[in-house]
Amino acid sequence: MSQKVQKKQLEGIKQEIKDIQLYINGEFVNAASNKTFNNLNPLTNEVINQVAEGDLADIEKATFAAKSAFKGPWGKMKVSERLIYIKKIADVIDAHIDEIAPLESYDTGLPISQTKNMVKRAANNFRFYADMVSSRLVGEAYQVDDEFINYTINKPIGVAGLITPWNAPFMLETWKIAPALATGNTVVLKPAEWSPITANKLAEIIDEAGLPEGVFNVVHGFGETAGASLVAHPDVKLISFTGETTTGSEITKNGADSLKRVSMELGGKSPIIVFDDADFDRALDACTWGIFSFNGERCTANSRLFLHEKIYDKFIAALKERVNNIVVGDPMDEATQVGPLIHTIHLNNVKRYLDIAREEGAEVISGTVSEEYKHGNFVAPTLLLNVTNDQTVAQEEIFGPVLTVMTFKDEAEAIELANDVKYGLAGYVWTKDIQRAHRVAHAVDAGMMWINSQNVRDLRTPFGGSKSSGIGREGGHYAFDFYTESQVVHVALKDNHIPQFGKKKD
Ligand code: NAD
Repeated sequence: MSQKVQKKQLEGIKQEIKDIQLYINGEFVNAASNKTFNNLNPLTNEVINQVAEGDLADIEKATFAAKSAFKGPWGKMKVSERLIYIKKIADVIDAHIDEIAPLESYDTGLPISQTKNMVKRAANNFRFYADMVSSRLVGEAYQVDDEFINYTINKPIGVAGLITPWNAPFMLETWKIAPALATGNTVVLKPAEWSPITANKLAEIIDEAGLPEGVFNVVHGFGETAGASLVAHPDVKLISFTGETTTGSEITKNGADSLKRVSMELGGKSPIIVFDDADFDRALDACTWGIFSFNGERCTANSRLFLHEKIYDKFIAALKERVNNIVVGDPMDEATQVGPLIHTIHLNNVKRYLDIAREEGAEVISGTVSEEYKHGNFVAPTLLLNVTNDQTVAQEEIFGPVLTVMTFKDEAEAIELANDVKYGLAGYVWTKDIQRAHRVAHAVDAGMMWINSQNVRDLRTPFGGSKSSGIGREGGHYAFDFYTESQVVHVALKDNHIPQFGKKKD
């Protein structure tokens, strides 16, 4: 992108960005406390805008609005009419696609070429769930001879509390909002405090789509206050959370008193296993993209590479070349492949892992970041070599553009190493031996596996992790188990036998 075009686009965005309010009961409002906090640009660390700092009082207002909408117009609406609104949201997103992607990049540091795809996916999330509800939200009938017909129906639950992270905000928010609304619930969203802008864009979109007041609400604020109040609120019947594993357990504990239904999409440390017979070039492409796209801030990133020892030297040489050539820079530039990390706190966290890697004896090989970006939260794409699986950097989620590399000698060792970690979100296997590919995929403890491919999402399939990576599954009809209550209705077809307690014998 030429400097001129970029500057023009940036000016447009800056004009567009307003201070951020809460969206409650169909209105944009200040926090009850009138407090705000700074939102920072990851490229410069300058203040972008002010964000209303919601807390308990705002969560109460939003929950009341959501509960009233559930009891009122939204809850009473015909499904076909509700789904027209869901499709309308998708259309309005599409109409604003050119504004949303730059806003997301500006706010998060994610490269524009990648946010464009994420935004398209966001519109699809709504269309997909409109279709899924009309075709797959169906009950079942169980016939018991000629005596009973028992059938199930699925009912929305009520107010859904959605708590989301900063790493792909718009896409992840819509991934929860679409099934929650399409199945008939109302929503209070608590977006991540480091990436608030596109959540409000979504509120504007939903406002434009004309949904009844209170069906969708956004309360910005911090996890410990706004987030925790949402989790504790007795009228919020379920919490769908995506974020760190430690936050997930905190939320599970805090939700226990009000017996919350929870869905947890948590951290990952996913293996990519490359056998010596793999398609070398494609495995290299997938491995590089899988760890360095989204600035490495990706839950399903292949952050642990296990290379068969025979191909180690060749693969590492090729990876070093890639790492040196990856375009690191301004997220608003179409050519950028890796942008700045979301926040200085996260930057320091990732850098701390690089220090730990050195202390634990790893060889740290990094690309470069131009001097012009010295005010941004940059970490150059990095390889950690000479690592063993018991080291901190092989076990903990770094969530940055950092790939930990290890070797294996045979299939059994690859599986053992891949599973020797607390996480179980995703995994990737590269081999041309089809039997081995399936064997290894089945043996790895992870919610999602890909064979000879990078992460390509099929919205119909279950998304989620095992072990410390999560509880429950999103995606496809699996989301219905979470966002609806199944109810069974038993119908006697004839006068079945009823024991006659207390009846006098004739
Ligand atoms: P985080 O856990 O710090 O925050 C996520 C959200 O939780 C934020 O909105 C935050 O304000 C809120 N929160 C924090 N403490 C809370 C509390 N006590 N009660 C209620 N809400 C609270 O996570 P993050 O740093 O924003 O995101 C990065 C993490 O998300 C990584 O671990 C990544 O792997 C994970 N992630 C997982 C998936 C998945 O699908 N499994 C997808 C994306 C990201």
